[in-house]
Amino acid sequence: MKLTIIGTGYVGLVTGACFAEVGHRVICVDNDAAKVRQLRAGVIPIYEPGLEELVKRNVALGRLSFTENTPEGVQQSDVVFIAVPTPPQPDGSVDLSFIERVARDIAGAMTEYKIVVDKSTVPVKTGEKVAETIKRYCKAKVDCDVVSNPEFLREGFAVGDLMNPDRVVVGVRSQRPVAALKQIYAPFRAPIVVTDIASAELIKHASNSFLALKISYINAISVLCEASGANVQEVAAGMGMDERIGRRFLDAGIGFGGSCFPKDLSAFIKIAEQIGYDFRLLKEVQRINADQMDRFVKKIIETLWVLRDKKIAVLGLAFKQNTDDVRMSPAIALCQRLQKEGAALRVHDPKAMEKARPLLPDATCVEDMNAVAEGCDALVIATEWDEFKNLDLERVRKSLSHPILFDGRNLFDRAQMEERGWIYKSIGR
Ligand code: NAD
Repeated sequence: MKLTIIGTGYVGLVTGACFAEVGHRVICVDNDAAKVRQLRAGVIPIYEPGLEELVKRNVALGRLSFTENTPEGVQQSDVVFIAVPTPPQPDGSVDLSFIERVARDIAGAMTEYKIVVDKSTVPVKTGEKVAETIKRYCKAKVDCDVVSNPEFLREGFAVGDLMNPDRVVVGVRSQRPVAALKQIYAPFRAPIVVTDIASAELIKHASNSFLALKISYINAISVLCEASGANVQEVAAGMGMDERIGRRFLDAGIGFGGSCFPKDLSAFIKIAEQIGYDFRLLKEVQRINADQMDRFVKKIIETLWVLRDKKIAVLGLAFKQNTDDVRMSPAIALCQRLQKEGAALRVHDPKAMEKARPLLPDATCVEDMNAVAEGCDALVIATEWDEFKNLDLERVRKSLSHPILFDGRNLFDRAQMEERGWIYKSIGR
């Protein structure tokens, strides 16, 4: 099918590449001229495992192209996807101005029937507004169907998630666009949930909030474990074997972050408030998440006492492993807290150093993870990169002035670390 995706970021670019990979012809539109130039020159602006090969192969096959020109994208496709940002406003509600802008742009370019599919994460009832806006601004007075098709990919695993989705959610007002959506997704062999638009929109916010809740739940359990001498990893393993619970999202740590969970949680609380429901459960999820970071910083201060004039090494800046994304990264927030206390930082991340630099201008970036701790008073692990499990612990220990490790992601075995002479502090163990 001929598809256009407006917004070529994490979601738009990966979706475009995967749609092209299964044989659709895809135009990716972005209003960031520099990004389009880069993509045309074969430079992929984000790090996502497997993405570069996918983009290059499909560009070479003529199935994937990039443009800044929205009308061209709209006119040359049957189905137009929206994948632009929906950032938070200061009060937690969603800034829908990007969506509204694109709805007007689509309307202005439409000369025949189109299916307009929203992939961005939006508050319930946004689909109605998009449909209204397109109708109002479409001079050609042609028909269109608006569909809600929320995206569930995880950064760091986005290509795999898109190629093998657990389910595809399609929210529609009538049956007319359903066949086209089924045809687009048929090669992915996933169950397709066809529902109404409001339910589809709610599925996305309800899912992300539930996952954030699961993380806060295990983080709360980690506090009980620390107080009672239990081990949160053992508890999570035992809980996770129950199929009704599942092991995923039960890793205690320094809290969740990233461009989705914090914003979607605030948005969902605000959406509920506007509908007249006080979602106190989710407010508690936010509070536990903030507490978890406070407790970790406190642990560092309790051990090192005064941070002024101390040098601390930090491993991990991305908000999670396998990505270079540092938006709302708890690792960055942690670094900033340590700097505020007066510590000087040496930092390393396998992929996110370039994007982190502007956020941590005073930190020293170190290319070699095994050299990050040289001359430091302590080492902190802030992101769960697999690479860090292969750290040359002996070399790192010798390079520190004191063998102190604060492991915010529970990457190492506590007993083994202590046997090797480390002062080792982790989460919930
Ligand atoms: P992003 O910031 O990486 O990309 C958005 C892109 O849209 C940018 O390249 C921007 O230049 C472009 N853009 C903005 N306005 C435009 C316009 N008027 N015309 C053309 N292009 C325009 O954002 P993202 O992370 O891909 O997120 C997009 C949406 O998907 C958000 O609603 C987000 O919540 C949702 N989402 C994100 C993820 C994720 O893991 N990143 C997962 C699921 C859903």
